[in-house]
Amino acid sequence: MPGQVHRERDILDLWERGVALDRWRREDALLAGHAPPRRLGARNTALLALRNAHFHGAWPILSTCPHCGIELEFTVDSAALLADLSADRDNGAVTIEWRGTRLAAHAPTVEDLRAAAMKEHPQAVARTLLAQCLEGLDADACDDDALEELGAQLEALDPAAIVQFDLTCPDCAHAWPALLDIGETLWAEVRNLAERTLLQVDALARAYGWSEAEVLALSPLRRAAYLQLAEAQ
Ligand SMILES: [Zn+2]
Repeated sequence: MPGQVHRERDILDLWERGVALDRWRREDALLAGHAPPRRLGARNTALLALRNAHFHGAWPILSTCPHCGIELEFTVDSAALLADLSADRDNGAVTIEWRGTRLAAHAPTVEDLRAAAMKEHPQAVARTLLAQCLEGLDADACDDDALEELGAQLEALDPAAIVQFDLTCPDCAHAWPALLDIGETLWAEVRNLAERTLLQVDALARAYGWSEAEVLALSPLRRAAYLQLAEAQ
C-alpha cells in the first residue's frame, strides 16, 4: 500500500522537524514552506490544513470533566472544522472604543502570546497580552471587569484563535466548554504515530536486520505478521 509508506515517512519527517523545539518554534517548523502565520486564527487554520493533509477526517480528542474528573473522548470532524475556521474573518488591525477613548488594536500574534507567557500570574498574563495588542492602554490600571471586557473584544477580532466545544459529562451531567489546542493536539498525534513506527522499525531491524526503508515498504498486514513472529521468538 504505497499511501501507507508515504504517510509514515511524512509523519516521521514532521516529527523529526519538531521534536527538539519548544511549541511555537515547533509549529513554525511543522508549517515550514507555508510562511507560518503569526496571528493565532490563521495559524490554527494552517495547522488544521496540515493535519487534514496527513490524517483522516475524524479527530479523537480527550477532555477531562472539571467537576468529577472522568476523561471522555469526543470526535471532531476536522474537515468540517477547517471549513468553519476558514469562514471566520480575521479583522487584523482595527480601532476599538473603550470607555470614551479609541485604541488601536490588533488580533494577538504568536509573539504577543510569547511575551504574555513570560508572566506567571494569570492576571499579569492577561495585562501583558492586552498591553501588547491595544496601543496606548494603561493595562496596570485595569480592574478585573476591564480585563474581561477587553479580553472579549480582543477575542472577537480573531474568532478562529480559540476553538472550543460544548461538552456535557455523561456521568455527572456537568457542562463545560472544552478548548481544543490545535497545535498541541496535532503534535501529540504526530508524536504518537512516529513513536509507534520507530518502535516497529526497531523491532524488525533487530529481528531480521532490515533497514528502515525495508520495514516501511512492508504492507500493514505483513508487518503485523512479522512483528508477531519476532515477538514470539
Ligand atoms: Zn463529570
